[in-house]
Order: sequence, then C-alpha cells, then structure tokens
Amino acid sequence: MKKLVVLGGGESGIGAAALAKHNNWDVFVSDAGMLTAAAKKSFETIGVRFEEGGHNMQEILKAELVIKSPGIPNTVAVIKDIEAAEIPMVSEIEFASSYTDATLIGITGSNGKTTTAMLTHHLLSDSGIDAGLAGNIGNSFAQALLQDKHDVYVLEISSFQLEHIKKFHPHIAVITNLSPDHLDRYENSFKDYCATKFNITKNQTEEDHFLYEADDENIAAGVTQFNVKAQQYPYNNANKNAMFTINNPSLLGRHNAKNAMAAATIAQLFQLSDQDIQASLQTFQGAAHRLEHVVNILNVAYINDSKATNVNATFYALESMSKPTIWIVGGVDKGNDYSSLLPLVHEKVKAIICLGVDNQKIIDIFSPVVKVMVEAKNMNDAVKASYDLSSQGDAVLLSPACASFDLFENYEDRGNQFKGAVRKL
Ligand code: ADP
Repeated sequence: MKKLVVLGGGESGIGAAALAKHNNWDVFVSDAGMLTAAAKKSFETIGVRFEEGGHNMQEILKAELVIKSPGIPNTVAVIKDIEAAEIPMVSEIEFASSYTDATLIGITGSNGKTTTAMLTHHLLSDSGIDAGLAGNIGNSFAQALLQDKHDVYVLEISSFQLEHIKKFHPHIAVITNLSPDHLDRYENSFKDYCATKFNITKNQTEEDHFLYEADDENIAAGVTQFNVKAQQYPYNNANKNAMFTINNPSLLGRHNAKNAMAAATIAQLFQLSDQDIQASLQTFQGAAHRLEHVVNILNVAYINDSKATNVNATFYALESMSKPTIWIVGGVDKGNDYSSLLPLVHEKVKAIICLGVDNQKIIDIFSPVVKVMVEAKNMNDAVKASYDLSSQGDAVLLSPACASFDLFENYEDRGNQFKGAVRKL
C-alpha cells in the first residue's frame, strides 16, 4: 500500500485523511501540536494511525505523498526536511480535486470570499442546480467529496490553501480583490501573497473561466504577469449593476454589489436566466458577522462586522454607513496602514471606542479627526460605552480592522460577544 502522510490534524487534515484512506492509501497523520478529542476519534473511526506533540521524521520520510494543512507555515523544519527529501507535497484542495469529476468553482481574494461563495451557491441551488459549498467554509473539500456529493462544488479558498498547488483546476475561478492581509506568512511580501492567490488560475485552460474585479490594480498586474489562459470576465460596478437591482439588506454596500456581480456572472455561465438571478438575489440571507444588523435600540442601529479583520474590509463597512457612527475598532494589528480610512472616519464617525490590548496606533492616527475616543478592555464595556455615546438616529458599528486574538478566541467569538452584550442593554 502506498504511504501518505497528512501534516496537521485539524479540519482539512481530518478530511484529507478520510479521503485518502477511502482511496486505499496507508495514512499516517502527524501534528506538532495536540489533537482535539474529536480529531482523535475521527482518526480512530476511519482507522488511520496518528501522532501528536511532535513529528516522527523517520515515519514521515517514508511517505510517497504528503498533504500539508494550510495552517502550517512553509518555514518550519518538518517542511524543509520533506522538501529536501523531494517528497511531493500538496494541499488538501489539490489532493481532493484529483478524486472528483464535479464542476469546480474556486473563489479566493482578500475580502468577500465567504459572501461571494455563499451567494453563488444560493443562486445555483435556487435554480435547481445540484451544488455544494465547501473548502474554507463548512466541510473541507475532501470531507465534502465523501459525505456531501454534488455535481458542482462552490469552494471558498484561502491563500494558505492555494499554496502547494500542482494541478488543481477549477472550471470557474474568481479573485474578488487583492489587498494586504496575512503578510506575516509571506515575509511581508505583498507580491508573494498575490502570486499565491493567482495559483487559482494557474492550471486553467482556454475552456475555463476567470472572473475578477476589473478596478483592482493588483489583479490587473497579476493577469499580465501570470499569463492567464482562461476566458476573462472582469466585472466592475458599472457593467452588471445595470442588469440587476440589488435591494436586499444582506447585500448592502458597494463591496456587496461587486460580490453580487461575481455571483451573477457565474450564474449566467450556468445559463440561468436573468429573471431567476434577479429573484434569487432578493432572497439571499447574508452570513453572520459581516455587516450583520443585530438590533435597533432607541433608534440606534447596532451592526456586527467582526469579520472585518483588515483595513480594506473596514473601509467598505464605513463607506456603507449612512448614519453618524460610533465605531468600535482594534485588536491585533497585522501591520495595518489606517490612512485610507481617514476621510471616511472624518466624514462619518462621531466617536471611536478602541477595543484592544494596545490601542496606541489607533489613538495616534484618528485623534486629529475624531474628538471622542475611549478605550475599553472587554466587549461589555465597549458596548456600554457605545450606548452612552449614541443618540437617536446613530449607528454603532463593530468593524475592528484587526484580528481578534488578543481579547477573543476568534472573530466569531468577538461577534457573538458583541451581539450578547447588545442584547443585554
Ligand atoms: P472573506 O471570506 O474573504 O473574509 P467575507 O465575505 O467573510 O470575506 O467578508 C469579510 C469582510 O470583508 C466583512 O467585513 C465584509 O463586510 C467585507 N467585505 C465583503 N466583501 C468585500 C469586498 N468585495 N471588498 C471589500 N470588503 C469586503
């Protein structure tokens, strides 16, 4: 039996191990950290060997193929050793795609992946197409192939999942936009980050389709540099808005108009009628934590945009605000340049609540344009302060522009704590 090693026993590792075992590989899972009880149970149930808390290199170097989980940086010793031994190493997305003939739609980008993937899935399923949603959302792609079979898969794909791509070949690929994010992983090279994103179209041929935001200079540069072979569908705010009216609270804002254009273009490639697309655009329900309207209290709207973990996402959130805004911002700064937000903050924000362990950078940059700034050390205090500072007709917006790990487990925890605190007011 051919030996296969799965590095990392998280969500994608569990899926990869299950699919590999199902296809008769001799599977060994190795994780430098500790596995969850649920992960161990999955491995025991499917009958694969595993280790945790370190790597047995002797065992690992016997592999014919290694599947690397997206969370593992390329710089760690185990990866270097596998590369030195010239053992082929692929991502879980790459591995899974070699076991299916389904039509694949791959969606990547710095912001808007989840929304675009969910909306695409909604438009297709609403018209009776047998489509599944997987990847960076819900089940891993490998797990979906085993448990949730479909003719078409809409795959949300992060930049980490696009590393170690050899043959992965989506029939339709989308890059929603490219702005600096996760640069800690790419040695601060925005170029390397963009190049990784372009792996989504690397193996596409003239018969495939590549959609991207037309006004994004970084994508335009990549299209030339990486010699894209697929048919191209650049979309911008003008060309499809004429065709569809987007009048759905889940798709507020200029950024969502772009996401809708990407999804509608895909639906058209599947020959859906404009009438059907228009109807389904109206019934889409957005994902939680993305400009999610929580509740109105004393005519103040509370909005949860906890998923805004970078400056670009927060830019669009602020841009879409039509009321005087009390803005809750801060967390772990991934090397943010806040200057692009200054005009919007000046125009729309009446008070800032800094919610992070270290708020100095935010205070320094925004204090010249916003008079009222307060610091909070937990969500309850931040929400109470927002309540005290607001008056009728205002909005309170949680859009942190930062990662959440200083005070919260993740962005969902942050958003849920916000919603909980608001509901207690
Ligand atoms: P991703 O899966 O890429 O993180 P999401 O759909 O979850 O994208 O949205 C993440 C954040 O970015 C949210 O705060 C959302 O309001 C914002 N956003 C969504 N689409 C776009 C876009 N096309 N451009 C910029 N920001 C966006």
